[in-house]
Amino acid sequence: QPILTVRNLTASVDDTPILKGVNLEIKAGEIHAIMGRNGSGKSTFSKVLTGHPEYEVTGGEIIYQGENLLEKEPEERALAGIFLAFQYPLEIPGVSNLDFLRVAYNARRKHLGLEELDAFDFEDLVEEKLEVVKMNPSFLQRSLNEGFSGGEKKRNEILQMALLEPTLGILDEIDSGLDIDALRIVSEGVNQLRKPDNAFLLITHYQRLLDYITPDFVHVMYEGKIVMSGDKNLALELEAKGYDFLDKEQLTNV
Ligand code: ADP
Ligand code: MG
Ligand code: MG
Repeated sequence: QPILTVRNLTASVDDTPILKGVNLEIKAGEIHAIMGRNGSGKSTFSKVLTGHPEYEVTGGEIIYQGENLLEKEPEERALAGIFLAFQYPLEIPGVSNLDFLRVAYNARRKHLGLEELDAFDFEDLVEEKLEVVKMNPSFLQRSLNEGFSGGEKKRNEILQMALLEPTLGILDEIDSGLDIDALRIVSEGVNQLRKPDNAFLLITHYQRLLDYITPDFVHVMYEGKIVMSGDKNLALELEAKGYDFLDKEQLTNV
């Protein structure tokens, strides 16, 4: 059974159709990349998967681990192992990173029927996970994302992911604004989190990220649909041709 099956998914914002029939299947152990020009609907798709209330699903279906995902509230989706690392991570002044992580982590443990970790045990665990993203422990005491640099925010997102061990990790433009060193750390983090029983969906505008995380499948989103799928070579081809060629391609296909 696939982790995720999306069929003919359509979604709107303020009655404007954005997603116009997305089809996608993700199996355990796979890494999928969705590429596409700005405004093609990539972030909308990721937000629809997490149940963001601004986006109205108008048709189609999303099956996650054999269940109808569209019936689930955003919180339930997160507890069921869907994790979205944001393009623009939230800043929450007054909430320490450590407290935020502990609450999120314990909610997931409770959902899995496990006992919550106390503050001390949690701190030990989180310090282990800091290794994954090569973060300094002092980050834990700071307010969530407040004053973090772009690279630090992205690393913090990967730290959250390392703790929560999602079944489906979605990374929306995690590469945007990262210098090469940060990109390498973030990518190595994702590579370390890869397991036979989880899957990742990488959303990116540029091919560069895929030099570091090798996808099994690359899909191209164009005007709210996946119009092309292939292996990692498709990303290289896109990089070489640019996205404009899709306009002509689409016209000749209609
Ligand atoms: P991408 O991530 O591929 O750049 P988006 O999913 O962000 O694309 O956007 C797709 C289209 O949907 C764009 O035209 C964008 O302006 C529109 N859109 C996305 N979110 C909203 C929103 N909350 N309100 C209004 N329009 C939106
Ligand atoms: Mg965009
Ligand atoms: Mg986007």
